[in-house]
Amino acid sequence: MNKLFEKLQPYLEKSMALQTARNLFDWDDQTAAPFEAADYTSKVIGILSDEYMKSLINDDVRKLLKKLQDEKEQEELDEKEKAIVKELAKIYEQLESVPPEEYRAFNELTSVSSRKWAKAKKDNRYEDYAPYLGKIIDYKKKFAGYRVKGDKKPYEVLLSDFEECFLIKELDEFFEQVKEEIIPLLKEVAKKADTIDKSYNYLNYDIDKQREFCKFLAGYVGFDFSRGVIAESEHPFTTNLHNHDVRITDRYMENNLESGMFSMIHESGHALYEMNIDDDLTQTLVGTGASMGMHESQSRFYENILGRSSDFWEPIYEKLVSTYPENLSNISLEHFIKGINKAAPSLIRTEADELSYCIHIIIRYEIEKMIFADEVTVDELPKVWNQKYQEYMGITPTTDTEGILQDVHWSFGEFGYFPSYAVGTAVASQLYACMKSKMPLEEYLKAGNLNPIKEFLRDSIHKHGAVKNTNQLLKDVCGEEFRAEYYINYLKEKYTKLYNL
Ligand code: ZN
Repeated sequence: MNKLFEKLQPYLEKSMALQTARNLFDWDDQTAAPFEAADYTSKVIGILSDEYMKSLINDDVRKLLKKLQDEKEQEELDEKEKAIVKELAKIYEQLESVPPEEYRAFNELTSVSSRKWAKAKKDNRYEDYAPYLGKIIDYKKKFAGYRVKGDKKPYEVLLSDFEECFLIKELDEFFEQVKEEIIPLLKEVAKKADTIDKSYNYLNYDIDKQREFCKFLAGYVGFDFSRGVIAESEHPFTTNLHNHDVRITDRYMENNLESGMFSMIHESGHALYEMNIDDDLTQTLVGTGASMGMHESQSRFYENILGRSSDFWEPIYEKLVSTYPENLSNISLEHFIKGINKAAPSLIRTEADELSYCIHIIIRYEIEKMIFADEVTVDELPKVWNQKYQEYMGITPTTDTEGILQDVHWSFGEFGYFPSYAVGTAVASQLYACMKSKMPLEEYLKAGNLNPIKEFLRDSIHKHGAVKNTNQLLKDVCGEEFRAEYYINYLKEKYTKLYNL
């Protein structure tokens, strides 16, 4: 190990421990903590955040980092050390720009506001949440303003935190292509939506049985229960303490069979990524997924590309039917596959089908762009939201609960996150095209053998953690950087066939 880098180690270890503690609190807050805990626990989280910041932002680390960024020193670092230094420099840029008292206040605010959001969503009262959202936006504008350089826009600073390969120019290009090709396709499909009967999905499905079947699904795609746990939360998510402790949540709805199943496959895709990170990288700054976009590519690859294919269900459909014979014994596999791929304009992003999903993201992206360009006020947001749904989807939410209040992200201050869902979805299609040329993917699925798929993703993507970025990974695996065409072609092919267009 490089001598200078070695001196950095104790600081990195301490910050890692504090970050792990914060992650654990975050997990607990959303799964087990009682409702009234938030205001008090936020004090603890505030102090931990403060300590985390001090462990990294101090004169010793600053000096070491400066030396390590020196060209001569860089030559002596190995790939992993170089990536860690790069990541540290990025964190420095993020954290050092924010005065500590503002950073702490912001963390306390988001800890409270996520609870306020949950209540406002439940009560359909945007006005109760709006003051908190307003404060979060003010902080994010201020924080982005501290970091903005050259002719970059404040919103790009936020985007780059989640996916460095996709800023406004790349996203605008990608989304224009999607709007041009997919909105007309969605309209065609919508006309024929009634040809698929999906009423079976909304019958009564016992929650205990759902829990059990979803657990089976997680294991089926490769979730390792000796290194991971499953819990329940309002909004399914994945968190990890390190590659031997990866946690996912799900949410089960009595009158919706698909919701819990596909959320489970989705989160399992995230979990596989984290579990397969190299032991040498875990608990370092690059011991996690390459980016939010890359992470979503894995979850959505499992959820949609594999999980909604007939080949995936062929070996296990019988098991699902026998779990709910009263609801499914008359539903053939072919019918079920049509059902789980039924597409139509919709209001709720997390329940959206593959075809309309990206439109949900485009709406959020365009609104976030407006927020950070000061083109919309907090009070106007519900109206703008509803207008965009009318414009792109042809439908308008009747309540804010199914409109602007539906997503948790903004209540944590996560602006710039949504586009990575779309990027990930598109990356998944590109990976799929490339994997099909390298392995008999369909045969593996039909045989119920998902191991070779997991191993391929582990070796080509997962184990590298954040040492490489999205485009580098794609180039190494597929021989070319990101191209939106794979995604658009995938959707066109799939839905043209499904709906006989
Ligand atoms: Zn996800």
